[in-house]
Amino acid sequence: MYRITLIPGDGVGPEITEAARRVLEATGIPFEWDIQNAGQEVYNREGNPLPNRVLESIKKNKIALKGPITTPVGTGFRSVNVLLRQKLDLFCCLRPCKSYQGAKTRYENIDLVIVRENSEDLYAGIEYQKDSEGAKSLIELIKNTTGKTIRGDSGISLKPISVYGTERIVRAAFEYARKNKRRKVTAVHKANIMKYSDGLFLETAGEVAEKYPDIEFEDKIVDNMCMQLVQKPELYDVLVLPNLYGDIISDLAAGLIGGLGLAPGANIGDEHAVFEATHGSAPKYKGLNKVNPMAIMLSGIMMLRHIGETTAAEKLDNALAAVIKEGKSVTYDMKPVPDDSTAATTSGVADAIISKIS
Ligand code: NAD
Repeated sequence: MYRITLIPGDGVGPEITEAARRVLEATGIPFEWDIQNAGQEVYNREGNPLPNRVLESIKKNKIALKGPITTPVGTGFRSVNVLLRQKLDLFCCLRPCKSYQGAKTRYENIDLVIVRENSEDLYAGIEYQKDSEGAKSLIELIKNTTGKTIRGDSGISLKPISVYGTERIVRAAFEYARKNKRRKVTAVHKANIMKYSDGLFLETAGEVAEKYPDIEFEDKIVDNMCMQLVQKPELYDVLVLPNLYGDIISDLAAGLIGGLGLAPGANIGDEHAVFEATHGSAPKYKGLNKVNPMAIMLSGIMMLRHIGETTAAEKLDNALAAVIKEGKSVTYDMKPVPDDSTAATTSGVADAIISKIS
């Protein structure tokens, strides 16, 4: 029996996590779900969007399957999703983007793995509000130490990138490549402009790469990487990136394989792992039983592999691939015409996949 923390999330989270729970159980693997809520409603009720009980549950169970959680824009609490990664030191965000035959896409045979650093960079949450004492002191410090002037009415976000953080994420990318028999790791950066943050990332990545002579290593500047991925995605294999570029390139790669509805992810640390789709809570579709549950199901497949249940993972992957190939029981986003009235519901997709699990 595997005890797993299940965070339904909000928006479309509860409906897609329920669909994922059903298909995972249909593989025959015994799960005991420790259901823990987080987000806006929990904040309204308990005064904290990520109560300690959620963290304690994941610490105890080591593994969580998580639905997306809405982040209020501009005001309110910081992202629960980012906080969770920071509190549990889930430094590695793994996002495989693989083509499935029958998926509506401009590209075929995409097989990319995005390895995104999850704890540093502009996501570290070190920000100074316009006109705050902190912002004023920082502007003063920068003037005194560099001679450069920052406009007085600026807000400031800091971008820390460390040797420690870079070493462990690049190592994770190479270890993944080795374990999964991948041929190449590409480090993505903007070291030509940000010499002391991205420059450090690139230099450190090169040093780590020397310890993996069996795997090819190269680097690409992030803007060029965007164009390369659109023009010749087949040249790339495993990409390792600092946090912000990883976030953006993940969505680009999701677009290559047919959209966010098919892009899974995992946030992995030395001790714990949280599996969740790349997409967010899509609030406008909340409660409509309409969105694609496949991304979180694919995250569930990653979870099965992570806990060593590879046969069950293959079984579920094959059933999901068969449903995509058949093209009948897929949600609106995977139909050739988006408003196709024959589109399946979220729960209908789960039913179809369960019927194909053998
Ligand atoms: P989103 O990913 O929620 O949705 C963007 C659009 O993508 C949707 O309007 C929809 O058209 C499409 N889409 C997303 N998921 C889909 C699915 N499963 N099936 C079909 N179509 C799908 O992005 P957003 O609107 O920028 O963010 C909404 C909220 O989610 C925000 O509050 C954001 O902060 C949060 N968010 C959370 C996470 C997370 O929990 N890890 C990740 C990203 C965004």
